[in-house]
Amino acid sequence: MMAQKIRGKRARRVVSDAEKAIGKVARAAMECRDCDIWARATQTVFGEGNANADVMFVGEQPGNKEDVIGRPFVGPAGQLFDRALDEAGIDRKQVYVTNAVKHFNSTQRGKLRIHKKPNATEIAACRQWLDREISIIRPKIIVCLGATAAQALLGAKFKVTEQRGKFFESPLAPLVTATVHPSSILRAGDQNSRQEQKRQFVEDLKKIAHHLPASSKRRKA
Ligand code: SF4
Repeated sequence: MMAQKIRGKRARRVVSDAEKAIGKVARAAMECRDCDIWARATQTVFGEGNANADVMFVGEQPGNKEDVIGRPFVGPAGQLFDRALDEAGIDRKQVYVTNAVKHFNSTQRGKLRIHKKPNATEIAACRQWLDREISIIRPKIIVCLGATAAQALLGAKFKVTEQRGKFFESPLAPLVTATVHPSSILRAGDQNSRQEQKRQFVEDLKKIAHHLPASSKRRKA
């Protein structure tokens, strides 16, 4: 009887200290007004994923869909990112994803909101939240996706086109690297160049997978 009662109870998931800390910071970020971007956006889109992740991916800013839904990497670029991670053998559930800027920066064109690159002042204002995510998660590898994240974390002179796929030591994490943002692959002019850029992106992710423990890798079917 007792055993049945125990079996009938839903297993309670233990919430780690890192998850609690990230939740607290995310709630604080919802109220942030430290630059002007918030006024044009729907809501703060904070990072999410495994709070004990070995690898953290940092993009530029949430896109239109992320802004509406309130979660990062759920739009078309996020879906491409998911497929590329899978091809590279990295378990999506074991990574943490976030952005250098937590609100969607846009300009209005008719009824459309068009992506607008955040400026240096806005990126600097938002750095407080990224630094807190890094200090809580303490990833072994930080991966910058695109020039905005790479220049924010690796210096203004960093060139993704020339230095992608290389690993750097940093006070932020034992290894920091950069590759393109998946949205740049979607913008490629034709199907062939899209496929080639996706192939190169997956190659960069495979190099990252090489540095990760088995627990961060996708189990082979
Ligand atoms: S973009 Fe960053 S700094 Fe600016 S209001 Fe949003 S959370 Fe705050």
